[in-house]
Amino acid sequence: MKRTSVVCFAFFSVAALSVASCSSASTDTPETTAPATSSPAGTSTSAPPSTTATPAELTPIVGSITAPPNPVPGTDGKVHLAYELDLTNFVSQPVTVQSITVSDGDTVLQNLTSDVLPEWTKVFGTTEPGTTFGPGQSGLVWIDAVVDSMDQVPDTLENRISVTLANPSPPILPASLTYSIAPVTVDKVEPVRISPPLRGERWVDGNGCCSVTAHRGAVSPLNGKLWAPERFAIDWVQLDAENRLFTGDKTSTASYPYFGDDVMAVADGRVVAVVDGLPEQTPGANPSGLSVDQYGGNHVVQDIGNGHYAFYAHLQTGSTSRVKVGDELKTGDVLGLLGNSGNTDSPHLHFHVMDGIDPLVSNGLPFEFESFDTTGKFASSDAVDRLLDVSAPAQLEPGVTTEARTNEMPMFMDVVSFPS
Ligand SMILES: [Zn+2]
Repeated sequence: MKRTSVVCFAFFSVAALSVASCSSASTDTPETTAPATSSPAGTSTSAPPSTTATPAELTPIVGSITAPPNPVPGTDGKVHLAYELDLTNFVSQPVTVQSITVSDGDTVLQNLTSDVLPEWTKVFGTTEPGTTFGPGQSGLVWIDAVVDSMDQVPDTLENRISVTLANPSPPILPASLTYSIAPVTVDKVEPVRISPPLRGERWVDGNGCCSVTAHRGAVSPLNGKLWAPERFAIDWVQLDAENRLFTGDKTSTASYPYFGDDVMAVADGRVVAVVDGLPEQTPGANPSGLSVDQYGGNHVVQDIGNGHYAFYAHLQTGSTSRVKVGDELKTGDVLGLLGNSGNTDSPHLHFHVMDGIDPLVSNGLPFEFESFDTTGKFASSDAVDRLLDVSAPAQLEPGVTTEARTNEMPMFMDVVSFPS
């Protein structure tokens, strides 16, 4: 389980652009007024009505979404709409995003104000959190809009962005402006409903949806566009009876009792890719020297129907030889063993569902488990990180009682039990 991106997204810097038409209130403004008409004698004249419904407005930052959101109910009682805004500053001066508000009509579903926006933003080519886009610079803002029930999921969402300019030039470039950007049509399909890939108690949801974890952050430029395959991915690790991750030498896979647990097919479907033979990594440190196609380690991709593919990664060396491409698996069939191969610093199962066969060139889809229990919740993301460092009981929120869950997606930092 890694809190760094599986594929780093600090990949490029954009050369400065200039927008010539920004330098003056120029003469090429489109004609927007109707020809003058005569007025009856004795009546005052007023400006004729505009022939355009919405005057054109220079919007320094433009954007699009990486993929339409699919709603999914989470264990927090909310239905989540997760997507990413891909923003670019098109003017030749720095522009700072002050806030982004996601709305359904008058109802605000997420309000990213300046105090929290840096946590949800990555400006490409920068290393520090921030929301200032240099000339020509691009970046991403991760969105997690929520409603209370599936019935309330809207057809469309509006993103309103408020920006300030370093060098305003009114009236065409005022010091601040707010406008709509990248309209969203919600893809209101049902979440992919599956069975758990693991059995037993005290499984921890590491890096699950919907804050900006290593998984949501893993948006990569591949084959000419951005992809977010790990948007809903979960790294599963298991606590022992004393809520510890390991005992003894943390660099030995034998110190992790769940190493070697069965990993099971989450649905019926054909195996479409298998990798085996990659070595087990030494826990406690990030491996180096891997090629991108080795990041998933030993893994299986299963076609579970309707254009959905399940990805089971970091499996134990030799364990995936039990399946081969073309095998038709039934729900619950063991397809490999939980391991520590590929880009991993401790034994875990990386699991996600995607809309294509390629674990990188695809977009992640939300999924829900038919039946499981939530039995605990981590007190903080730091408490999850601490699990990997020291052999000590996990710092869990007090007072969390066991709750049966039906057709929900576990959320980041949940502790859950799956049917044995
Ligand atoms: Zn992962």
